[in-house]
Amino acid sequence: MKTTARVVVIGGGVVGVSTLYHLAKLGWSDVVLVERKELTSGSTWHAAGLLPLFNLSYSVGKLHQYSVGLYPTLEEETGLNVGFSRVSNIRLANSKDRMDEYRYYAGVAKTIGVDVKWLTPEEVKEIWPLAETDGILGAIQHPDDGYIQPADLTQALAKGARQLGATIYRNTTVTGITQKANDEWVVTTDQGEITCEHVVSATGSFARQTGAMVGLDIPVVPVEHQYIVTEQHPAIMERRKQGLPEMGVLRESDASWYMREEAGGLLLGPYEIGAPACYVKGPASNSEYELFPDALERLEPYILSAIARVPAFGEVGVKKVYNGAIAYTPDGSPIVGPAWDRKNFWLNEGHSFGITAAGGSGWQLAHWIVNGEPTIDMMGVDPRRFGDYAGEGYLIEKNEEAYAKVFSIHYPDEEREAVRPLRRTPCYDRMKALGAVFGSVFGWERPNWFAPQGYELTEADLDKADVILNENHPVVPGEAIREKWSFRRSNYFEHVGAECRHVTEKVGLQDMSAFAKCLITGPGAEDWLNSLLSNTVPKKVGKVALSYLLTDEGGVRAEFTVYKKAPQTYYLVSAGALERHDQDYLLKALPNDGSVRFERLTTAMGVLVLAGPKARDVLAKVTRTDLSNEAFPWLTGQSISIGGAKVDALRVNFIGELGWEFHHPIEMQNYIFDKLMEAGAEFDIKPFGIRAMTSMALEKSYKLIPRELSIEYAALESGLDRFISFKKPAFKGREGLLARKEAGLKWKLVTLEVFGVTDADARGSEPIYRDGVLVGRATSGGYGWRVGKSLALAMVAPEHGALGTELEISILGKGHKAVVIPDSPFDPENHALRS
Ligand SMILES: Cc1cc2nc3c(=O)[nH]c(=O)nc-3n(C[C@H](O)[C@H](O)[C@H](O)COP(=O)(O)OP(=O)(O)OC[C@H]3O[C@@H](n4cnc5c(N)ncnc54)[C@H](O)[C@@H]3O)c2cc1C
Repeated sequence: MKTTARVVVIGGGVVGVSTLYHLAKLGWSDVVLVERKELTSGSTWHAAGLLPLFNLSYSVGKLHQYSVGLYPTLEEETGLNVGFSRVSNIRLANSKDRMDEYRYYAGVAKTIGVDVKWLTPEEVKEIWPLAETDGILGAIQHPDDGYIQPADLTQALAKGARQLGATIYRNTTVTGITQKANDEWVVTTDQGEITCEHVVSATGSFARQTGAMVGLDIPVVPVEHQYIVTEQHPAIMERRKQGLPEMGVLRESDASWYMREEAGGLLLGPYEIGAPACYVKGPASNSEYELFPDALERLEPYILSAIARVPAFGEVGVKKVYNGAIAYTPDGSPIVGPAWDRKNFWLNEGHSFGITAAGGSGWQLAHWIVNGEPTIDMMGVDPRRFGDYAGEGYLIEKNEEAYAKVFSIHYPDEEREAVRPLRRTPCYDRMKALGAVFGSVFGWERPNWFAPQGYELTEADLDKADVILNENHPVVPGEAIREKWSFRRSNYFEHVGAECRHVTEKVGLQDMSAFAKCLITGPGAEDWLNSLLSNTVPKKVGKVALSYLLTDEGGVRAEFTVYKKAPQTYYLVSAGALERHDQDYLLKALPNDGSVRFERLTTAMGVLVLAGPKARDVLAKVTRTDLSNEAFPWLTGQSISIGGAKVDALRVNFIGELGWEFHHPIEMQNYIFDKLMEAGAEFDIKPFGIRAMTSMALEKSYKLIPRELSIEYAALESGLDRFISFKKPAFKGREGLLARKEAGLKWKLVTLEVFGVTDADARGSEPIYRDGVLVGRATSGGYGWRVGKSLALAMVAPEHGALGTELEISILGKGHKAVVIPDSPFDPENHALRS
């Protein structure tokens, strides 16, 4: 056995083998894969082999697209047939909301370059004559989609990797992993030790056990998944005899199942409510090609619905039921990328569509390892999108929920209910009493919007969308239903408008405690931050500046608000959802000479935002600090007192109004909250939520990660010129960004006014055309209440970005005129912010 290698990949399922293959493809041939039993003996062997391209996540969509392109090429490279049947995939829609979801998806697919066709019920019948078409409103078809033989695919990837010099050890179990002081890893197996630079964990249902070897709580717990294979059906056999094509994969999304032909019979795979988490403590040490006893009783409603749609399914006996473990994460997407807090430890885990994603995830992870960055935006699958809160109990409930909702309509405003309310800020109950309707981010509860007292939706208002899943609103026991999710303007639209109007005319209060916060201190802090971030770190105590962490190629990794709180002391704030991601980059880049210290402050500090033209009047009543513009200008911060509570007041906000963020010890939050609400009463202070903030941010053309800002776009393409200080001789990404500028920028971020919108604003990811040619994609969108316009931010090729250019944006399949307008349609001169 080798004793050294550049990379050790643990796990010989399709995902690990694909990672090995792609590392070798990139020229790293000194790479080793270790599998405890035989290749594919984990989840891979029993997979149904479907390759669904459909996915609303940009990252996952790109990974799937790559896989479906790669797999058919493997036979030529390796001589091994992977059993790819390109039979196409049809998804049915039985409800208006489902049609909206497909319309939205068709736009996303267009921007990614995935071919999607619309079918009428009659066309469905032509392709799937065994299906009844009652109730079908329409369908989409992926002609390139199909299914593959997972074991054959894995063997082909393994052969391809070996041909390129990679080594695979079967029947070899990893028992321990330790990191040396020089960051090298030592992987201990039952056959010996391998010292390496990088470790990749691709261990399927064993992910948490592998993570535990390096002290990481990996957010993966598998769930049981079943599919049923029937005996042969005469009608299918007859079709075969006649040489007719396979009918393809049929997905009855509204009833949560898929079906395809299998050896002359049918294969039915339901995603049922109530499928239990499994292998919570990991599979047994002798687990191999393992299946669980079947649990057909759970599948009854799905089987009945399948028989109603395809009567033939009920006409033949069941040949075999497969009930196997399928890895899950709380949001159902895999985790692909670097582990947090450990250098050169990589995760390719949590794959619930691993046969489909293996190609793409191996490809991007290999790029990340070899070149330091992936080539596509991987935020949707980044392992650091969950935090410490995601322990075993959380994962069981959330992953079961994610499984049950695989086929639910993925409303853009959906807020799932499991394990909530988990992380509550002190003012949670006060906000709730004021009518807050909460959303959840990184486990935190945040008011999305505020409903009037007593406001409630009736069953009739809900106009429920689904056949079996039947969910288009939150279900919280004992609570009234106050919102309906939709791809269009929904019941909360006007209420969000009222919040925006109130803040811009009077004054509002918002809880932004979920912000990620940390303190950077020490004699080396300024130089280190300057070497890392794009903007010059504030020199004067009390200054606030926005700054970016770039990739070596000049893309945008992270955004920080940097406040110089005291000499050698910097307080950094970034997005709540990105806490682990953003802080991991800082931590891994810390110099090890002790000159810079890092302290996490997220849970220690709360944040309340006071904003609106009356904000100064309110604050003046509870502080002695001089709040005049001269004494306390925009983009500065001071330690002030609100009543008896000491806070750091930063004169910044994300909505473009006069205002302050108060960063305070979390335990003082309600004291401060009450002081501000009491002082604000005479100015009619009211709370506002995330949705109002998002609308107002859009009117200021403010940019967000991973929308307008991403590793795929050079920071200058995203319009960050003001926050990049090329005067500094060096900072991460400087040279790469200059090189991209030199080569010519490929994108331009523009603000668009969208015309003719009556009920569906852009949301991001809509395709943008000029004279019928695709020229870009929307990154955000919505209605701007202060300017009274439907707006979108978009990335377009630079030649289409001039002011006044008339473009077309397709929103839910309908073309709208969209004109490039100056950035920041609300208050372009920042008068309100500076007032
Ligand atoms: C019933 C069912 C149907 C499915 N159908 C589909 C489908 O149609 N399409 C699709 O895309 N996906 C499907 N899936 C999901 C798919 O099977 C998985 O996503 C995929 O197989 C995951 O591959 P993997 O390589 O991550 O994990 P695995 O195949 O489980 O591989 C992990 C490997 O790691 C090894 N290992 C673990 N710990 C160690 C250690 N300490 N040392 C050495 N080796 C170790 C294990 O032995 C195992 O072989 C289905 C799943 C189920 C259960």
